Amino acid sequence: MARAYNFSAGPAILPEEVLKEAQAELLDYKGTGMSIMEMSHRGKEYTAVHEEAIANIKTLLKIPDNYSVLFMTGGATTQFSLIPMNLLGEGQSADYINAGSWGSGAVKAAKKLGKINVIADTSKEIPTRMPKNSELKFSDDAAYVHITSNETIAGTQVKEFPKTKAPLIADMSSDILSRPLDVSQFGLIYAGAQKNLAPAGITLVVIRNDLAERAPETLPELFQYRAFIAENSLKNTVPTFPVYMLMLVTRWLIAKGGLEGMQKLNEAKAAVLYKAIDDSSFYKGTAVPEQRSPMNVTFRLPTEELEAQFVKEATKQGMTSLKGHRSVGGIRASIYNAFPAAGVDALVAFMKEFEAENG
Ligand SMILES: *Cc1c(COP(=O)(O)O)cnc(C)c1O
Repeated sequence: MARAYNFSAGPAILPEEVLKEAQAELLDYKGTGMSIMEMSHRGKEYTAVHEEAIANIKTLLKIPDNYSVLFMTGGATTQFSLIPMNLLGEGQSADYINAGSWGSGAVKAAKKLGKINVIADTSKEIPTRMPKNSELKFSDDAAYVHITSNETIAGTQVKEFPKTKAPLIADMSSDILSRPLDVSQFGLIYAGAQKNLAPAGITLVVIRNDLAERAPETLPELFQYRAFIAENSLKNTVPTFPVYMLMLVTRWLIAKGGLEGMQKLNEAKAAVLYKAIDDSSFYKGTAVPEQRSPMNVTFRLPTEELEAQFVKEATKQGMTSLKGHRSVGGIRASIYNAFPAAGVDALVAFMKEFEAENG
């Protein structure tokens, strides 16, 4: 059976090599006679997996020693609340940069827990864009500044992170490990796994250790970054299979040339698709050119009827999940790390055919 070119925004495509490896080890992990998902999270086999996943992430992101890598649950959405619960002290406020649906979600959750200043808001703008760094007016005493690095629905990406006095916190759910990053610029980075890391079930958090000390003693332990640091994310049962998959995916990334190598591949794929959009007057990109996302490519056709027909015909040809998010419509091609270049070429060929027939 042929694999589809899966353009899903998340849960998303995983590297085929990784899926095959997991398949080969599924019934008998390294001669143990059981699957990795059937073993104790404190046994020696799983411990090695857990440690390698953390080590690979540290290698890929060149993480400084005063940061910890955590595996949490509840997705990025839970982090929207855990961040203010841990880092926003009594009477303090935080700055939020809102560039779309996910930024709006982070703001909404944080507003229930403390004083939030939305210092820039482009969430309703069409064409979609990220606030420019020159537009940002930070508060003097913010406990932290929150930003979304890649707006998955709008198809926009931060190209240069703002320099902030307060710790910068970034939701990187849809572009984590897609490009090199200077982690020392951030206080905390988080990402739900199911877009660019692993299957759904874990949330990656990279946190500067001193920030974890801010959490009030009254906060339940499993909501505290501090407890996850102290117990190496093993306070309770960690979702072992997603961590195992993350270990395989990060190994695959290292073999592909790390984040520099991945960035080159991602930019090349995105360039082919954006060129096809720009060369045509039938397709229109929805994001401003200078902030286009290499992960989520969003565009429109002349009518919604043509968009529906486009999605339907593409699906018949094995190109799936091209329908834009239900809140905005249009077309969205998510082409994360694991998405093959051949799939982008196939989509571009289909776009040309479709335009010739319907344009
Ligand atoms: C998908 C996504 C989320 C939500 O992630 P969950 O893991 O489903 O909670 C949050 N932020 C961004 C940028 C996303 O792409």
